Formats: sequence, C-alpha cells, structure tokens
Amino acid sequence: MTHRIVLLGAPGAGKGTQAVRLADRFQIPAISTGELFRQHMSRGSELGKLAANYINDGNLVPDEITVWMVRDRFRREDVQGGFLLDGFPRTVAQADALDEMLGENGLTAVVELWVDVEEVIPRLIGRAATEGRSDDTAEVVRQRIRVYREQTKPLHEFYVGQGILREINAVGEIDQITERIVAVLER
Ligand code: ADP
Repeated sequence: MTHRIVLLGAPGAGKGTQAVRLADRFQIPAISTGELFRQHMSRGSELGKLAANYINDGNLVPDEITVWMVRDRFRREDVQGGFLLDGFPRTVAQADALDEMLGENGLTAVVELWVDVEEVIPRLIGRAATEGRSDDTAEVVRQRIRVYREQTKPLHEFYVGQGILREINAVGEIDQITERIVAVLER
C-alpha cells in the first residue's frame, strides 16, 4: 500500500512529531516545508532570506515561493514510493498546485489533527526556549493561529470535497495518537 499523505492541523497540534513517527512506520520520507525553510534560513540562501521576513512575523511565505520549493523537493526519487507532507499545503492555492503536481498519483489521505488551539498556545511559546525557533514568541504565535484560521482552515472543506479527509483527535499521549492515525490509514 502506497501512502501519499498530507498532515493538517493548527500550529502546535503535533504535526511535526507525528510526521516523523509515521514516516518511520511506513518507510516514506516526511517533507516539512517549515523544516525546508529553516534549512534555507540557516544556510543563508536567497530563498531563506526571502522566507525569513514572513516566517518571523508569523505569516505565510507567498504561495509562489513555497510551491517552487516543494516542486523542487518532489524531483527527488525518494517520493516515488510515497511521502508524507507536514505543513504543506497551507492555502487552497497550494492544494491546487499539489494536485496538479501529483497528477494521476494523487493523495491517498489527508489526516487532520484536532486540538483545542487555546490549549496549545503555551506549548508553542515554550518551544521557543527548547528549539530556539525565532517564530515562537507570544505575539508571533497568535499571528500564526490567526493565519491558520483564515488561510489553512478552508482546506478542511477542500479535502472533505475530495472524500479523503480523515479527522483524528490529537489530544492525548503521543504514542496513542500515532496508533490512532495508523489505524485510520490502514483501514
Ligand atoms: P508550525 O506547524 O508550528 O506552524 P512550521 O514549521 O510548519 O510550523 O512552519 C513555520 C513557518 O514556516 C510558518 O509559520 C510559515 O511562515 C512558514 N511555512 C511553512 N510551511 C508553509 C507553507 N506551506 N506555506 C507558506 N508558509 C509556510
């Protein structure tokens, strides 16, 4: 069974944590646009410098730049056997671009992780200390949540429309949540 999966969910829902575990379980690459941007930023590439302006304010990097970066990543052979996307798409325009990129071998599932956003704010702010991320201050976190509500939430309806959305309660133990997702994906 080939898995071509998108992980959706609010900032702090645990997408990154679950992405690594699911990728390991299914032996597929986890592709995180947030990670790709951070790599570009730490290398000081042109794309990284451009993206930093948006990321540090808690805004989305423009679709054109983001889609270009994902397209480039999809040129690697390792996505042939499946993949898991973490943090992409985040807008309907990106979702359209992804569908076009994948062509006949479209997504097999979109997993939406559900948490109470108010509950995860302290978790996000706490992450600034442990991971040293420049976008985890209180003000920027609030902006990221606002952006999620306005630009990313519409993807719920988008993928319901495609009949591939799978909703997961993402409150609980990390292991338990992984098993919930695996159960849904193997059904
Ligand atoms: P989180 O899931 O905690 O919000 P990410 O690591 O996924 O964090 O993303 C960090 C930042 O990178 C986002 O706030 C945004 O600025 C940028 N980013 C990541 N993915 C995308 C995307 N698909 N489109 C636009 N910007 C993105």
